[in-house]
Amino acid sequence: VAGAPDRPNEFEIIARYFDRGAGAADVVVGIGDDAAVIDVREPLVVATDTLVAGVHFPDDFAADALGYRALAVNLSDLAAMGARPRWCTLALTVPAADAGWLAEFAGGLFRLADELSVTLIGGDLTRGPLTVTIQILGTVAADRLLTRGGGRPGDDVYVTGTLGDAAAGLPVSRDAEDVLGRRFAYPTPRVAAGLALGGLASAAIDVSDGLVADLGHVCEQSGCAAEIDVERLPLSEALLARFDADAAYAAALAGGDDYELCFAAPPGAAAAVAAAARASATPMTRIGSLVAGTGVRCRLRGRRYLPPATGYRHF
Ligand code: ADP
Ligand code: MG
Repeated sequence: VAGAPDRPNEFEIIARYFDRGAGAADVVVGIGDDAAVIDVREPLVVATDTLVAGVHFPDDFAADALGYRALAVNLSDLAAMGARPRWCTLALTVPAADAGWLAEFAGGLFRLADELSVTLIGGDLTRGPLTVTIQILGTVAADRLLTRGGGRPGDDVYVTGTLGDAAAGLPVSRDAEDVLGRRFAYPTPRVAAGLALGGLASAAIDVSDGLVADLGHVCEQSGCAAEIDVERLPLSEALLARFDADAAYAAALAGGDDYELCFAAPPGAAAAVAAAARASATPMTRIGSLVAGTGVRCRLRGRRYLPPATGYRHF
């Protein structure tokens, strides 16, 4: 049974917006059967992240940005593992079959998927409150895998890009002209950086909940502590133009949603890290060190600095 042109039914939606025919050679069975089949020859890396309207993005968030962002946050998890993303599935729950909205959503999703050669191999479609779940699958050679657990006291701590922009941009995330708003709506997953750091970084995580909170996970799993030199934090001109230094530091330390990588590497690897930054065209800034102990401490010009309340928690 066909739906009205602007109100497609379930199968029309899949065919029109999500099924783009035969995909990559490693997809044995793609969209259209009871399950997808992929041919994997290396260690498989799997992650999933859900975005819920009103929780992870404002209710009036643009559909194009939602499609892009839902994939970007998943790609970020693979980047933090040093993996190459290859396939994804999409479980989409929408309140209505709005053709214009679906076209925009698919546009944002596939723009990023195509840029990184990720194939959509299946999914699910249901009616209900707007929710997007993507599962991402990728591969990594065992000796290039990055985890949270390999850091050692004495390692340098780095971050990619700039921090604090997305938290500052959330209130203006509908404004496509606003640099900070765009940093929330269209985060850059650091896939190239993650690949370049394989075999080099001792530990890595992506910054989704805030730097102090996420670096804290690295410390826990690496069995050590971290010291951040707050004045080293990479802050964008856009952030500093809108906030004074204290508010900018707060956004950089505790604001979530940046999807930059935070990683550790032995001091002897500094030149190799600089080469990885050049090779991946990704700024990498040293912000502190791992030390013996537990927890994350901050210093501002050598003096203890108390960071603002920690990262976002659902529960
Ligand atoms: P089943 O009833 O066997 O679970 P569905 O009718 O839900 O199958 O889905 C039919 C096909 O379309 C499957 O291959 C499924 O993976 C794919 N699919 C469903 N929803 C989506 C989506 N949002 N994006 C991509 N593929 C989808
Ligand atoms: Mg079935």
